[in-house]
Amino acid sequence: MAKLVIVPTPIGNLEDITLRALRILRECSVIFAEDTRVTGKLLKHFEIQQQLISFHANNEHKVLERAIDKILSVDTAVLVSDAGTPGISDPGFLLVRACIEHGVEVECLPGPVAFVPALVASGFPCDKFMFEGFLPHKKGRQTRLKLIAESELTVVLYESPHRLVKCLGQIEEFMGSEREVCVARELTKIHEEYKRGKVSEVKKYYETHPPKGEIVILIAGRK
Ligand code: SAM
Repeated sequence: MAKLVIVPTPIGNLEDITLRALRILRECSVIFAEDTRVTGKLLKHFEIQQQLISFHANNEHKVLERAIDKILSVDTAVLVSDAGTPGISDPGFLLVRACIEHGVEVECLPGPVAFVPALVASGFPCDKFMFEGFLPHKKGRQTRLKLIAESELTVVLYESPHRLVKCLGQIEEFMGSEREVCVARELTKIHEEYKRGKVSEVKKYYETHPPKGEIVILIAGRK
């Protein structure tokens, strides 16, 4: 029976790849990859040779049927994204749903994902939380911010470094300057950093220390 295995890949530190991920990447018949160059480098590092097929946000609708045909024709297919777990703010959902509809067995390996270490190390309650991923840039952004402001749960956002200060400014505007936040930056990499404090203080810090790299924002729930 055909099988699709979702394989999380490191979000920075290559030591975070699991032994099981390496075995599946080595043994599978084909790998669907968000960016074949990025995955090609990862495979080269681990001395794995595999057939790579491009599967990304701009072609996933178009190539979905072809991808299913391919998966049905092999024993085990793998889906990877550039970093972390496919399907989490990355392509994956459409393929998983289509596989289930076509009777393909679907499995997701546990592994790297940016929001889990950020959430756990934030110091905010992590027994329940709300994952928002990237906020919409324009339409719908204010609605999301209003909903987040009301949440009693810790909220997780993905954000790009050049939008961080603007986003912290909006958190301050919608939730008040006292709202506690944590900015988790460059997780698992050399310059890993956590900044915790009132949103006004954290914003002030990044206004004078323009951030680089990848960022997760944690917002403490409304008291
Ligand atoms: N699929 C990925 C995952 O499992 O977390 C997320 C992919 S999404 C396109 C990329 C975003 O994840 C970045 O903009 C950033 O918000 C977050 N991210 C990825 N790697 C990170 C890292 N090393 N440190 C902090 N945030 C990271």
